[in-house]
Amino acid sequence: MINKIKNTIGEILPEIIDIRHEIHQNPELSFEETSTAALVCSILDKYGIEYKSKIAGTGVLGAIRGEKPGSGKTILLRADMDALPIDEKSGAAFASKNPGVMHACGHDIHTSVLLCAAIALSKLRKEFSGTVKLMFQPGEETTGGAEPMIKAGVLDDPKVDICAALHVEPSLNAGEAGFKSGAFYACPDEFDIVIKGRGGHAATPDKCLDPIAIAAQLVTMIENLSTRVLSPLSPAAVSVCKISGGSAYNVIPESASLGGSVRVFSEHDRALMENGIKNAAASLCAAYGADFEYEYRRLFLPLINDEGVTAALKASADKYVDTIAITEPTMAGEDFSYLTDAVKTSALFWLGSTEPGAAPYPLHSEKFFASDKCVEYGAEIFCDFVLSQSR
Ligand SMILES: [Zn+2]
Ligand SMILES: [Zn+2]
Repeated sequence: MINKIKNTIGEILPEIIDIRHEIHQNPELSFEETSTAALVCSILDKYGIEYKSKIAGTGVLGAIRGEKPGSGKTILLRADMDALPIDEKSGAAFASKNPGVMHACGHDIHTSVLLCAAIALSKLRKEFSGTVKLMFQPGEETTGGAEPMIKAGVLDDPKVDICAALHVEPSLNAGEAGFKSGAFYACPDEFDIVIKGRGGHAATPDKCLDPIAIAAQLVTMIENLSTRVLSPLSPAAVSVCKISGGSAYNVIPESASLGGSVRVFSEHDRALMENGIKNAAASLCAAYGADFEYEYRRLFLPLINDEGVTAALKASADKYVDTIAITEPTMAGEDFSYLTDAVKTSALFWLGSTEPGAAPYPLHSEKFFASDKCVEYGAEIFCDFVLSQSR
């Protein structure tokens, strides 16, 4: 079966590499992926793969029904299509033609891998039972397209049993893939606090309510909270990243504001930090008689990989690439988490993307570059995984 998958993908690879270059050269920002989605639809049309488009904006959901006897599972494979507001300086021959917009997170690879796997699976229909759903989603880099696509029903009719996805990873070479079960990506929550004091002359702080002094203490208090409120065994990154207030050397301002990020791996820890920061602000402000406003925004869910699905994806990957055990989670966010939350038997793995011997630049860098070889490896792993699930 390995040779059958390799040969099927090998036949279509030149076309897919051209598509990868076309997507990379024409990056589109979150929820503006209209020409990328149109390109996806045109390829699905060409190969007779059924789909629905314009889901949650620019999302596309394809489906391939296996013809092997048996009831089979419904497996959803997911790719994201959006790019970032970055001016590309990768030096690639097929660099962005859209100034200020770049596929610096490798979503051009994700989209190309899924198209390649889709065409190959459509040619291998007799080798699997059940249904493969192909989810091309918008907006992963901003507010997330996965949750609205779920609300639009992509997990229903037929009901999805397993979701799988990959993300390119520049710390690994093309030809390697990384796997971790359990907690993998954090929730990237945000908070804002406005401290409302009473302004006045710098010479008479006793006649004012100094919001700057409260803000300064609050920064220390918030950053201590994560080490005192959360378990030392729970990874957390809690950072105050914005602080502002005041505009003159001799004026105590009326207000000061803080903003920051909370990255943890469970609803329990999220609630502890959401309430802890609020209580810290409330108690400090009460001590000085100041008032405050507080907003905590829950963004993507933590991404928790299923152990069995991770092992099955790794078993497929072992046949095509070198597999690596990832031991630590990342504090970054990833909206595939809405799929792992809705369908617990789901997992995402890392696909190495750096050309062997080349300097790796991180995701979201203007110099990030992913090898064309990733497309082949990613598609082989997806196809093998789908076939292995119907045996
Ligand atoms: Zn990204
Ligand atoms: Zn990404």
